[in-house]
Amino acid sequence: MEQKAIAVLTSGGDAPGMNAAVRAVVRAGINKGMKVYGVYRGYNGLLNNDIEEMNLRSVSDIIGNGGTMLYTARSTEFPKPEGIQKAADFCRSKGISGVVVIGGDGSFRGARKLTNAGINCIGVPGTIDNDIACSEYTVGFDTAMNTAIQMVDRIRDTAQSHDRCSIVEVMGRHCGDIALQTGIATGATAILVPEIEYNIERDVIARIINTQKTGKKHFIVVVAEGVGGVEDLAKYVEQRLGIETRATVLGHVQRGGSPTLRDRVVASEMGFKAVELLDQNIGNRVVVMREGKIVDLDINEALDMKRVFDEDLYNIAMSISI
Ligand code: ATP
Repeated sequence: MEQKAIAVLTSGGDAPGMNAAVRAVVRAGINKGMKVYGVYRGYNGLLNNDIEEMNLRSVSDIIGNGGTMLYTARSTEFPKPEGIQKAADFCRSKGISGVVVIGGDGSFRGARKLTNAGINCIGVPGTIDNDIACSEYTVGFDTAMNTAIQMVDRIRDTAQSHDRCSIVEVMGRHCGDIALQTGIATGATAILVPEIEYNIERDVIARIINTQKTGKKHFIVVVAEGVGGVEDLAKYVEQRLGIETRATVLGHVQRGGSPTLRDRVVASEMGFKAVELLDQNIGNRVVVMREGKIVDLDINEALDMKRVFDEDLYNIAMSISI
C-alpha cells in the first residue's frame, strides 16, 4: 500500500503554541507511518509549491519558540474557486490526502472548501484572541494573557508611584476574553469589552470615584482592542477627574514570546488528535476543547456556533475590582 501523506500549515494571525501543534502533527504522523509535509506561509504554500517533507528532527527545539516555524499568511488567491481547485490539485499531485490547518475561523472556512474539493482537512484553533465559538480554548490565549498581565503589572508599578490612572488596551477585536481575564488578574478598576455596551460615566468615572473613596490613588482601566479609543478615554478621565492619566496600547507584544505550559500542552494534544482523525480518513472536523476535554466537531456545526461571553466572570470582576 502507498504510504499515506499529510500536510500541516499555519494560517491567519500567528499565535504562541502554533509550533507545538506543528511538532505534534509531524511526530504523530511519522509515528503512524505517514509522510508529513510542512507547508510554508499558510494556504499560499499549497499554491506556490512551497512545502517541505518533515522528519522527526525538523521540529526539534521549536516547542518553546513563539511565532510559527512554518510562517503564516493571509492568502487572497486561495479563497477564490480557482485557488481552492489549484490547492486541491497540488495536494493530489504530491499524494497528500489530508491537511491540518492551524488558525482561526477564516482558516477553517478555507479548510471546509478544501475538504469539499477532495482533500480532508482538520482545523486546530490557533489564535491569541480566544474568539473561536466552537472551542473553550484557542492555542496562544494563555501566553497572550500572561504577557498582558506582566505588562500591566509593570504599568501599575509606575501608576502607583505617581498616583496615576493608566488605561491599557489589550488585544481582542471581537472578543473581550483577554481584557476580562487580564483585568481580573491585575485588579483593574474598570474593564471595557466589545460584548458589553458601556457608558463612560457609569462604567469608568463612577467606578474610579468609588474606588478613590476607599483611599486608592492609582487606577488601571483595561480596554479591549475592539472597544479602542484609549487616548481619548485617557484625556476624558484626566479632564473629568483631574487625575494624571496615560494610555498604553500593548499591541503585538502579546502575540510573541515563549508559549506557556498550557499552550504547549493543549497544542500538542490538539495536533495529535488531528492526526488521529486523518489517519482514519476523516475530514471536515475541527479539534476543540469542550468541558476541558479535547474532542472534535463537524466543521459546519463549529462555524455556525455563536460565542458566549462569560458574563458571570465579568460580574465577579465588577464586584471585586474596587
Ligand atoms: P485570525 O483569528 O488570526 O484572524 P483567521 O484564520 O480567522 O485567523 P483569516 O485572515 O480570516 O484569519 O483567514 C486566513 C486565511 O484563510 C485567509 O487569508 C484565506 O486565505 C483563508 N480564508 C479565510 N476565509 C475564507 C473563506 N471564506 N473561504 C476560503 N478561504 C478563506
